[in-house]
Amino acid sequence: MKADIIVIGGGASGMAAAICAARQGADVLILERMPRIGKKLLATGNGRCNYTNEAMGVQYYHSETRQFVAEVLEEFNAEDTLAFFADLGILPKSNQGYVYPNSMQAASVVDSLRFELERLGVKVMVDIDVSRIHPKGKGFQLESKSETFSCRRVILACGGRASEKLGSNGSGYQLAKGLGHRIVPVVPALTGLKAKEAVYKSLAGVRVEAEIVLHIDGEERDRHRGEVQLADYGISGIPVFQVSGRAAYGLNNRQRVECFLDFFPDTTYDALVRFLEKRKEHFKSSSLEVFETGLLNRKLIQVCMKLAGSEKGRLPNIKKLASVMKKFPASIVGSRGFDFAQVCAGGVDLKEVSSKNCESKHQPGVYIVGELLDADGICGGYNLQWAWATGCLAGTSAGKECHDSHRTN
Ligand SMILES: Cc1cc2nc3c(=O)[nH]c(=O)nc-3n(C[C@H](O)[C@H](O)[C@H](O)COP(=O)(O)OP(=O)(O)OC[C@H]3O[C@@H](n4cnc5c(N)ncnc54)[C@H](O)[C@@H]3O)c2cc1C
Repeated sequence: MKADIIVIGGGASGMAAAICAARQGADVLILERMPRIGKKLLATGNGRCNYTNEAMGVQYYHSETRQFVAEVLEEFNAEDTLAFFADLGILPKSNQGYVYPNSMQAASVVDSLRFELERLGVKVMVDIDVSRIHPKGKGFQLESKSETFSCRRVILACGGRASEKLGSNGSGYQLAKGLGHRIVPVVPALTGLKAKEAVYKSLAGVRVEAEIVLHIDGEERDRHRGEVQLADYGISGIPVFQVSGRAAYGLNNRQRVECFLDFFPDTTYDALVRFLEKRKEHFKSSSLEVFETGLLNRKLIQVCMKLAGSEKGRLPNIKKLASVMKKFPASIVGSRGFDFAQVCAGGVDLKEVSSKNCESKHQPGVYIVGELLDADGICGGYNLQWAWATGCLAGTSAGKECHDSHRTN
């Protein structure tokens, strides 16, 4: 089977790339290994699809080559994403800058992309797992178990290897490597972290507003605030997700990785000590339970009291208690891994790709987009923004190139 442009992967970046290429008049085919396209997209934002963020900028991304990320966002920013989706009939609804479709349904985002692909005559073949790409004549030959395909340009949009059950299984890294690309080590990001401390078993299910501070080999590397979820294995929730990629790199490098939870981020240590001293005085003839009430979730305050050295119903040292409440430890021994991760950090080295259109510098005619590249955003619509931006830039450029070469041939 032949096409001008073949897009490998019918996820967020692949669908955006195919639409933009077809709008330039190219004949486009999407090959997808799953039985349907857009499977992961349906699961995004808890089924609501947080597709971009009003506060956009390179500071919300991690990469070895952040300048590239800045250049891509300059070419295609959140407003371009809003305009791209408005053309498809998707109007935005913002929740504190996090942008969702007005329907609050990821299915409507997937459907709008599918309908546009249909309108433009983009062909889609599912259950096709591409295992090899090689240059042939003026274009490329692609191989799957059952069929061989040829095209003039290829857009690699295979995603990373997070949540494999939703499609992306890491095969994109192998395809890119086969074309000569260096892969920046890939680790799971936006996921929970496993802690060594046994106390987490008794804290499972507790949710608490906190600031999390990530230390690697004793040095502070990141901090985020929000609702932390305590689990039998350790810690989870959005602020934990935000630091999890950096934590995973630390573990990979065999460094000491620690998180500290501050349950009173708006109160200084000294002010907390004064407050607790006053409370101690006020309730000096009451039971420990009276002192504890209202300070934190009941399970959590009891663990804090124990860690601070409380014994036989006696109050612990107040300074020690304040320290535990402001620096609750989680010695990180692992991340929850790729199966539970929303995204991968690392990927194809951006230095080997053009920031104008994501074309490979090793293999002109091949474009690499989305999560497969070495860039990962924090929670909040940043990863999908990256998928739309890189997909649209590559698709438009590949489509134009095909159109121009048709005219000159
Ligand atoms: C549960 C969950 C919730 C998320 N929520 C959000 C959110 O609200 N906002 C946000 O910004 N980000 C979110 N993300 C992250 C976001 O979904 C991804 O970053 C984004 O989908 C990446 O787009 P992509 O096109 O690069 O890859 P994918 O969307 O993963 O698509 C890649 C596609 O390629 C196919 N494929 C892979 N290899 C081959 C091959 N060899 N041959 C053929 N096909 C192949 C896969 O089956 C897949 O369909 C979430 C992720 C998860 C898992």
